[in-house]
Amino acid sequence: MAHDPDYTDVLIIGAGISGIGAAYRIHEKNPNLSYTVLERRERLGGTWDLFRYPGIRSDSDIFTLCFPWEPWTRPEMIADGEHIWQYLADTARKHGIDKHIRFNTHVRSADWDSGTDTWTVRTEQEGAEKTYRARFLFFGTGYYNYDEPYRPEFPGIDDFTGDVIHPQHWPESFDYTGKRLVVIGSGATAVSMIPTLTEKAGHVIMLQRTPSYMISATKVEPPAVTLRKVLPLRAAHWIVRWRNALVGSLLWLVARKAPEFTKRMLRRIAERNLPEGYDIDTHFNPPYNPWDQRLCFILSADLYKAIARGDVDVVTDHVDHMDATGIVLKSGRHLDADVIITATGLQLQALGGIELSVDGERVNPHDRFLYRRHMLEDVPNAAWCVGYTNASWTLGADLTAQSVAKLLAYMDSHGYTHAYPHRGDIEMPEQPAFNLKSGYVLRALDVLPKSGTRRPWMLSHNFLRDALAHPFEDIEESMVFGRVPAAALRSA
Ligand SMILES: Cc1cc2nc3c(=O)[nH]c(=O)nc-3n(C[C@H](O)[C@H](O)[C@H](O)COP(=O)(O)OP(=O)(O)OC[C@H]3O[C@@H](n4cnc5c(N)ncnc54)[C@H](O)[C@@H]3O)c2cc1C
Repeated sequence: MAHDPDYTDVLIIGAGISGIGAAYRIHEKNPNLSYTVLERRERLGGTWDLFRYPGIRSDSDIFTLCFPWEPWTRPEMIADGEHIWQYLADTARKHGIDKHIRFNTHVRSADWDSGTDTWTVRTEQEGAEKTYRARFLFFGTGYYNYDEPYRPEFPGIDDFTGDVIHPQHWPESFDYTGKRLVVIGSGATAVSMIPTLTEKAGHVIMLQRTPSYMISATKVEPPAVTLRKVLPLRAAHWIVRWRNALVGSLLWLVARKAPEFTKRMLRRIAERNLPEGYDIDTHFNPPYNPWDQRLCFILSADLYKAIARGDVDVVTDHVDHMDATGIVLKSGRHLDADVIITATGLQLQALGGIELSVDGERVNPHDRFLYRRHMLEDVPNAAWCVGYTNASWTLGADLTAQSVAKLLAYMDSHGYTHAYPHRGDIEMPEQPAFNLKSGYVLRALDVLPKSGTRRPWMLSHNFLRDALAHPFEDIEESMVFGRVPAAALRSA
């Protein structure tokens, strides 16, 4: 295949955390394999390039969100979006991954041919069609639609004479100095944005239908900084990363096993920081258990402090309709606004919206069970990268990248040209791939692949168990391996 410049052993789609992580792990274990990264945008970074709203930051600790093989060197534990982007760009450059990225390359479809064990991938590059071919596909395409965020239909929105902005498409240099802002939403985006907005806005209202649980964290954690001063960087990184992964897993476990205790703990943070007599029951007492939806991080209780200062009002109500000057609520109250920010969330999407087929037959991801969090039942030589919803994404993405790297090395050493997971007649109940009851997950139950209830046919949400089991995974379990004759490969 060396004569074909558009053929690579591995095609990675997406140059975000997952794609960059996969490139590193695959090359680390398979330096003989060629790889190319196809990225639809003009810059790498994915989420950390797309989202530019004021206050964009991680909402999990950066030591577990960064790569285990490339230490985070800045002091913050909760990192700003631009620093995460810079880290990803520096990492890609340092490891030579950037040279493999083809930007402005939007992958539209991928078809597997079992006669030649080859994927044919059709892309659009600045309006022109271009085809790539590969033995293995890695979908580092994230989990949501880049073009269309979730926008509920608010009656009368066209009557509003101010600006309506969705955080996924924040206009560059948008000036909101002195303006009255209403942010609709109470998830991680709203909560990380609002304290920053108060620095310039005249006033901010957080309008929520349902409250979220908030946990407070410090931006910089002194023990982690000290550890890096006294120990070599890699050793300190390893310790802090594992410490944070353990603490995060423990917090999640306590929240699931002892929800009432966790509710009391989270309520105490609110009571300590909100003004005396504040109506916590209405505004910060969600009607579900902690971790039924993702827990929101607030930085040193900044949201509560902004409320205490009077910079932010929280309104818990439903939108009835919008009019020229703001929002009319179901209660009849009117919220005056110059700008409405619809922090109403994402639209989930599998495989970056790419049309997938095997021998010309369309594959609907939702009809397939996931195998070990990353392969689709009966789809050869392809992996989809999803991280954890209850821990940093990268903890899961890196396990996937390592599994794929191991599979490729195994195939190479045995001369196999294809491998696919096959369930056969094993029956089991289905469950949604993501274990959250958040709106964006519930809206998309028919979009993502299915999870079973038994390994290896399930998407686990337990990092510690996965990390411990990972080295002992039987690579042949429920997998079908094979090869096509060399003549077919040559003719491909
Ligand atoms: C605002 C926000 C904050 C978040 N904060 C955190 C956090 O603090 N901690 C955490 O663990 N998770 C967080 N997440 C989840 C976050 O998306 C993941 O942590 C991580 O960035 C996902 O990386 P990824 O590479 O899998 O996907 P993405 O970052 O979404 O990158 C996917 C890449 O694939 C490209 N792509 C997609 N489709 C195609 C196609 N058809 N053709 C070519 N290229 C394509 C995209 O352009 C993009 O570059 C956050 C998400 C959002 C939206």
